Amino acid sequence: LIQLSMPLNFIGMIYRELKQGLADVEAMFALLDVDPEVKDRPNAADLAVSAATVRFENVSFHYDPARPILKDVSFEVPSGKTVAIVGPSGAGKSTISRLLFRFYDVTGGRILIDGQDIRDVNQASVRAAIGMVPQDTVLFNDTIAYNIRYGRPAATDAELHAAAAMAQIGGFIESLPDGYATEVGERGLKLSGGEKQRVAIARTILKAPPILVLDEATSALDTHTEREIQEALDRVSTGRTTLVIAHRLSTVVNADQIIVLEAGRIAERGTHDELIAEGGLYASMWSRQREAAEAAERLRQVEATD
Ligand code: ADP
Ligand code: MG
Repeated sequence: LIQLSMPLNFIGMIYRELKQGLADVEAMFALLDVDPEVKDRPNAADLAVSAATVRFENVSFHYDPARPILKDVSFEVPSGKTVAIVGPSGAGKSTISRLLFRFYDVTGGRILIDGQDIRDVNQASVRAAIGMVPQDTVLFNDTIAYNIRYGRPAATDAELHAAAAMAQIGGFIESLPDGYATEVGERGLKLSGGEKQRVAIARTILKAPPILVLDEATSALDTHTEREIQEALDRVSTGRTTLVIAHRLSTVVNADQIIVLEAGRIAERGTHDELIAEGGLYASMWSRQREAAEAAERLRQVEATD
């Protein structure tokens, strides 16, 4: 019994960590055969995706009953549109993406995809419909090709290379002595945060899901890499229902709607221009980030002339 409970605890620990990182949970269930916290109803049907409209209706959520995280959150991502969620760290932005992917069930309200409550359909079909580019990508200890093909194992080499090129990582992969056969991850080549994120983007391009969830973590990247990743993300999201969690507001200017989340509630919503005109939280976040960006630019110019 003791021998058995140890590894189970360990698996639970890994599971929680990965769940936080939104990383390859599907694969892990398959590998470890662990019971997920969220359970399908018996004989739950597949999600039927048509327009791929996402709706949050009065969603509340807490990890711990003593501490509400989301409070009465309602919004819609219409078919093919992009909705951005911005707000201070800890506001509950990543929690929204975890709920949509059904890592957890809502504690109030409901989440609908094309009118179907995601608790009424099986999780595998929900996850098949969603491409998630998480904040932190964990790669399998396998080749780069395997890691990208995980999005769609039957993809041809030509499709694989096209996806890598779109994600701005193809040139880098081809420059490696073993190319796409290069082993990556803990036991192979260590990729930088930006490279791993581009592998995740290539995987998502290959998967070509109707719904995209992008939890951007571009703040740790240099401006050049960030711009390249942003271009790749823009390309993937064209024509797809997209929920983008943005840390840098410069990446959400073109969103069809921006939602400002503050302490688990929607504080403001509108287009960039509307929110700037409103002069509220978004407008002050915007001017703060602009000032910081301008200061960084001045510093760069001073350094360049030194
Ligand atoms: P954001 O992405 O906006 O920074 P998150 O959605 O990650 O915020 O987190 C919202 C709040 O929920 C934070 O206060 C965070 O500490 C808390 N939280 C996140 N994950 C868990 C968890 N597994 N258990 C308990 N609290 C959590
Ligand atoms: Mg987050």
